[in-house]
Amino acid sequence: MAYDDSNIFAKILRGEIPCQKLYEDEFALAFPDIRPQAPVHVLVIPKGKYVSIADFGAKASPEELTGFWRAVSHVAKLVGVEESGYRLICNAGPDSRQEVPHFHAHILGGRALGHLLAPG
Ligand code: 5GP
Repeated sequence: MAYDDSNIFAKILRGEIPCQKLYEDEFALAFPDIRPQAPVHVLVIPKGKYVSIADFGAKASPEELTGFWRAVSHVAKLVGVEESGYRLICNAGPDSRQEVPHFHAHILGGRALGHLLAPG
């Protein structure tokens, strides 16, 4: 799947759509999810143009890979869930219902999250 520059996260990265920046460095940007599913629900996206985790894993440089995952754990600490715990979700492809075709990690926490998968 080719990267589509019109996806919503590409627009956020270009500053065409606003977001509440929680963290930014040369590799990643983090902001709250617009439809939070938990008291803490933050999205971390790489700056590079990657459709999915598969695309990111296959094509990103070692610096981008390291920088992105370092940012994810840093953001979890920043938003206060490192001690209480959190869940990372990276949806990929149709079965996961990935909505936005720019790779991203959801950080969810701030309450006991229960079982791994919700029904439906
Ligand atoms: P996915 O299903 O692709 O893993 O998750 C995409 C997420 O992006 C959804 O949880 C959705 O609420 C969030 N989202 C979609 N559009 C926007 C937006 O314009 N701003 C923000 N902050 N989040 C968005």
